[in-house]
Amino acid sequence: MNNSYLIILGFNSSLPNYNYHPTSQLLFIKNNYFLIDCGEGTQSQILKSKIKLNKIDYILISHLHGDHYFGLISILSTYQLLRRQKQLTIYAPRGLKQILNINFKWSRTKISYPIKFIYLTSLKQKKIFENKDLKIYTIPLKHTIYTNGFIFKEKKKLKNLNIKNIKMIKEIKIKDYLKIKQGYNFKKKNGHIIPNNFLTYKSPKPLSYAYCSDTKYYPNIIKYIKNIDLLYHESTYLHKFYYYAYLRGHSTSISAAKIAMLSNTKKLILGHFSNRYININIFKYEAITIFKNTIIPKILKKYYI
Ligand SMILES: [Zn+2]
Repeated sequence: MNNSYLIILGFNSSLPNYNYHPTSQLLFIKNNYFLIDCGEGTQSQILKSKIKLNKIDYILISHLHGDHYFGLISILSTYQLLRRQKQLTIYAPRGLKQILNINFKWSRTKISYPIKFIYLTSLKQKKIFENKDLKIYTIPLKHTIYTNGFIFKEKKKLKNLNIKNIKMIKEIKIKDYLKIKQGYNFKKKNGHIIPNNFLTYKSPKPLSYAYCSDTKYYPNIIKYIKNIDLLYHESTYLHKFYYYAYLRGHSTSISAAKIAMLSNTKKLILGHFSNRYININIFKYEAITIFKNTIIPKILKKYYI
């Protein structure tokens, strides 16, 4: 069963908005919680989500504009108050550690749990995380400062054997099982081919999620996010402000929809709306003219990938 989900904790852009919080998301995938960006107020949003703060072991920061990380100091301080012991890993552009250390120095806060900083500096795509189930890569974006998106990809699992059918083919020995689990057909001595789908059960397709933080329209990213299941792409302005958006390193609803369409994404979530717009549903009305499966997220709702 698929139990990977995304919770949007906030999707507002940089100016404060009465109704919405700045950017932050919580992704649960393969038994890990990943906090992606951490705008002001993220901590209270996590409390509202009922996810335990201490379950988060990885935080990924796309760039060092305040609306994407100003909530971090409070979370790290709370971990200290809660006497966190386990390691926290933070992926971020260079400079974040110095910013945090100045705060901790002058507030005389001693952080006693281990924080591992992994600095992102490359302008090319990099793999930044891998375990037995999951890989995470950066998505180099084009904003006004150094910025990355992130793509989370489940690994392909070995197929389960259909033992009942396997037993019908006497030539198959235990030593052949691994190849069959990997998806290979079985070739008998007489040259007859037993197709793999007779010998195995269908395994679920590995899931993928891409987070495209602040960026101008940048079709170069399409090659990184081909055929993904769920795409979040910023959409700060409506399309009549395309050139204004482009100059300010942001995208429009149509730009985001084009990226979704050209990358053959299954579902698109829009966000990072400028607070000049009272009715954010108009972003959807524009986007669906290009890409039908577009949604305006509801804060704290679980979106299963
Ligand atoms: Zn920004």
